[in-house]
Amino acid sequence: MNEVQLEVAKAYPNDSGRGIARLDPDTLLHLKLSPGDIIEIEGGKTTAAKVWRADRQDWNTDTVRIDGFTRQNADVSIGERVTIRKAEAKKADKLVLAPPEEASVQFGSDAAGMVKRQILKRPVVERDIVPVMSSTNHPFMRSPGQAIPLISVETKPEGVVLVTEDTEVDLREEPISGFEKTGGGITYEDIGGLTNEIQRVREMVELPMKHPQIFQKLGIEPPQGVLLHGPPGTGKTLLARAVANETSASFFSIAGPEIISKYYGESEQQLREIFEDAKEESPSIIFIDELDSIAPKREDVTGEVERRVVAQLLTMMDGLEARGQVIVIAATNRVDSVDPALRRPGRFDREIEIGVPDEEGRKEILQIHTRGMPLSDDVNLDSLADDTHGFVGADIEALTKEAAMKALRRYLPEIDLDREDIPPSLIDRMVVKNDDFGGALGE
Ligand code: ADP
Repeated sequence: MNEVQLEVAKAYPNDSGRGIARLDPDTLLHLKLSPGDIIEIEGGKTTAAKVWRADRQDWNTDTVRIDGFTRQNADVSIGERVTIRKAEAKKADKLVLAPPEEASVQFGSDAAGMVKRQILKRPVVERDIVPVMSSTNHPFMRSPGQAIPLISVETKPEGVVLVTEDTEVDLREEPISGFEKTGGGITYEDIGGLTNEIQRVREMVELPMKHPQIFQKLGIEPPQGVLLHGPPGTGKTLLARAVANETSASFFSIAGPEIISKYYGESEQQLREIFEDAKEESPSIIFIDELDSIAPKREDVTGEVERRVVAQLLTMMDGLEARGQVIVIAATNRVDSVDPALRRPGRFDREIEIGVPDEEGRKEILQIHTRGMPLSDDVNLDSLADDTHGFVGADIEALTKEAAMKALRRYLPEIDLDREDIPPSLIDRMVVKNDDFGGALGE
């Protein structure tokens, strides 16, 4: 059979959540494929995607670009190899979707219709994650631009199927078990800029988790603690979540200030419990936000609680086995105020600076946060990237939401709030315009 082996690379920011695989013209020719055809992607598991042509800079690199959901469906990571072949996709008579274990989703009355419109002509295999975009006007969605991972519980027929106008799409509200480790669905495609930083985190965290034997063979200790430092809102938490998701590691999160304000002894016990749970459910990532608030330099410490929490944290870090199966990632805005004892070897001995994004980074972040939005043609993300000097990721996210709210206000007079359903024709017409961004920027 005609097939090729290619290395997996990260998807383009705009492709995420769309079930697309980018191949270069040579590969297309070799597999007798045209853009729009469906391929099978076989890694640890087999899934399907729709083929698009890769951008010129990717030609002859022997790579296939797929997003985090497709990577999860094929059970592969960036840098690993998959086998690609043309798929025989059948029309789906029926597709049943359900949320993963940890999610509780409430579907509105027309949700099935909206979901179907979004995934029309998309290939699906049973047990795949099918990301569905939220948008501001979606009745059941959380934040715009964020894909909601639904699971295809059942397809009729089986195999690779295509959703068509005639497909019966059923949405089930009860979560399906066995899919608990989706880390909220955050993947590397949800992070704008930070290419080198992602690469470094992958080397430090993903590699030892997946291939501890490499570290053993070379006689190097995998890191136990990684310190991410930089201004607030630059994507440190996002990065930690994405790594957990991409490695299918369990994710435990500790908010620094929260753990401090506990009754006597409770903070330490909570820390102990989290480390024990993490060990039990390894591979795991423990994320500690605002590390400086629990572990400031000890000369600065006035509170007795802080002193004991730092001691406990040091004990727990020292007690971790050096096998890279539990890794602690901490974030801080003030790296200089972190207790130096925590930065010694075997503790948080790797540091990555997460800085304010440059123009290219801002453009990617804008693309990410406008993914689920209907943008009018006059919106130019290049010039918005140019106009947002000094903005961090969180600022850009706020800007896109504000622009969407401005757009919504334009349509409000046409909406009868007493009626339950908003006419689909109006929803189809809604767009976010350049002026909406201009207005949002002006505030
Ligand atoms: P930090 O942990 O550095 O304070 P977060 O990761 O919590 O920042 O970022 C807050 C929100 O801002 C994120 O949930 C995301 O929506 C947005 N954001 C921040 N940085 C980025 C980025 N690099 N790319 C895309 N979105 C970002």
